[in-house]
Amino acid sequence: MLLRNQLFIGGAWVAPSGRQIIEVFNAGNGEALGRIALGDEKDVDAAVAAARAALEGWSGGSAEWRAGFLDKISAGLKARADELARLIAQEVGMPLKLAARIQVGLPIANFANYARLVKEFQFETRVGNSLVIREPVGVVGAITPWNYPLHQITLKVAPALAAGCTVVLKPSEVAPLNAFVLAEVMETVGLPKGVFNLVTGTGAKAGEALVRHPGVDMISFTGSTRAGKQIAKLAAKSVKRVALELGGKSASVILEDADLPTAVKSTVNGCYLNSGQTCTALTRMLVPESKYEEATRLAADVAKAFTLGDPLAETTRLGPLTSLAQLQRVRDYIRKGQQEGAELVTGGAEPPEGVPAGGYYVRPTIFGKVNNSMAIAQEEIFGPVLAIIPYKDEEDAIRIANDTPYGLAGAVWSKDDAHAQRVARRIRAGQVDVNGGAFNMNAPFGGFKQSGHGREAGVYGLEEFLEYKSLQLKG
Ligand code: NAD
Repeated sequence: MLLRNQLFIGGAWVAPSGRQIIEVFNAGNGEALGRIALGDEKDVDAAVAAARAALEGWSGGSAEWRAGFLDKISAGLKARADELARLIAQEVGMPLKLAARIQVGLPIANFANYARLVKEFQFETRVGNSLVIREPVGVVGAITPWNYPLHQITLKVAPALAAGCTVVLKPSEVAPLNAFVLAEVMETVGLPKGVFNLVTGTGAKAGEALVRHPGVDMISFTGSTRAGKQIAKLAAKSVKRVALELGGKSASVILEDADLPTAVKSTVNGCYLNSGQTCTALTRMLVPESKYEEATRLAADVAKAFTLGDPLAETTRLGPLTSLAQLQRVRDYIRKGQQEGAELVTGGAEPPEGVPAGGYYVRPTIFGKVNNSMAIAQEEIFGPVLAIIPYKDEEDAIRIANDTPYGLAGAVWSKDDAHAQRVARRIRAGQVDVNGGAFNMNAPFGGFKQSGHGREAGVYGLEEFLEYKSLQLKG
C-alpha cells in the first residue's frame, strides 16, 4: 500500500492543510493500491504562490538551461520506467507491456523531445520595424485525467517548462500515484524550487480552486467535455487562457474499395486500446451496406481473440476498466444499446468469466446495425464497445462521420491513398489516420467542436504556452 499523503510545493514535500485521505484502487482486483491526500484551496494557494515566486528566475534563464533539466527529467523517468509501468498498469488497468511502451515510453520520449524542440525554437522574429518576441504565459495550472495519466501530464508539463512557465499540477484523483514519481524525479534532478508543484485532490475542490485562482495565468485541461465546459465558464471570470482537450466519438470510415480485413482489424484494435478508455478511440466503424455482413463477422472474430485478464499477466491483451464507476457506466451503455435496438454481435453487459475477482472487467463488445442517432453512437462510452454503422454511399459516410458533437480523431480506409486523403480532408476532426498511418508525437493533437480547443504535442504544444509581444522599434 503506497501512502502518498504529502504534496510537493515549493520544492519540498509538505503536509496538506486538511486531513482528508482517499484510496486509489488496483483496477485488476479492486483492492486498495495506495492512499493520497486531498488538497484544498489553501494548498492550491501555497502552490500558486510558489510557482509565481519561481517564475522570474525560470523564465529568465536560457532555453538551453531549461532543456538541460528536461533531458534530466527524461532520464530520471527512464531510470524508474519498470516501477512506473507496473504502477500505471495497476492504476489504469492497461496490460503491462503496452503500459511500458505507451504510458511510460511516451513521457520519456516527450520530455527529451521538448528539450530538443525548445533549443531549436525561434523566440524572436523581425516584422517590419517590430521585434516580435515569444514570452511564457506565466503560471500554468495543469489538470489531467486518468486514462493515460503520465502521458497527459507530460504533454502539459514538458512544453510549459520548456517555454519558461512554472506549473501547478492537479492530476486525476483516480490514477494519481504516477504523478508522485514524476515529482520525485523533479526533486532528484534539482529543478529550482517552485517551478513544478503537485497538489492532489478532487476536481470540485482543488481543481476548481486552481481554475479560479487569480495567480494562475493559464489552465491547460484534459478530461471530459462536461468538466471542460465548467472550467471554461469559471476561467472566464478572470479571462485566463484555457486549453481544452476533451472527449471524442471518432469514426473509422471504411470505403468500398478498402482492404476490409486490415481496416476492420485495425479499427477494432483502435477501439479497444486501453479497454476503450482512449479519447481518440475509433468507436464508430462505418461500412458500406454491401460489406456490412462480412465486416461484422470479421470484427467479431477480432474482438473474440482479445484475452481479457489481469493487467500484470503476460497473456492479457485487454485489461479491466479503470474504476468501479467506469465499469457501471460502460455496462449501462451496453444495456442501453440493446434497449435502443442495436444488434449485440458479441460481448454484453454480464460480468465476464475467468477474470480475477473484484477487478473492473467488461466483455469486449460489438454492436451491429447501429443508427448514428442512438446514444451508443453519439455519446462517449469509454469502454471496449464498438458500434458498426452501415452507410449507403460515400456522401452518406462523410455525413455520418461528421454527425457528432465531437471532432477529435478519425480514420479512413481505401486501396487508393489519394481517395482516402480526399475523404479524410472532409472529416471535421483534429487527427485523421489515413490507411493506418502511424501515430506521430510531433503532429498537433487536439479537437474540433466539443472535443476542445488548443493543440498539444510537438512544436504546436510548445506554442500553446507562449504569448506574443511586439516591440515597435524606431529604426
Ligand atoms: P474528468 O473530466 O472527470 O476529470 C479530468 C480531471 O479534471 C481530473 O483531474 C478531475 O479531478 C478534474 N476535474 C473534474 N471536474 C473539474 C472541475 N469542475 N474543475 C476543475 N477540475 C475538474 O475526466 P476523466 O474521467 O478523468 O477522463 C476521461 C475523459 O477525458 C474522457 O472524456 C476522455 O475523452 C477525456 N480525454 C481527452 C483527451 C484529449 O486529449 N482530448 C485525452 C484523454 C482523455
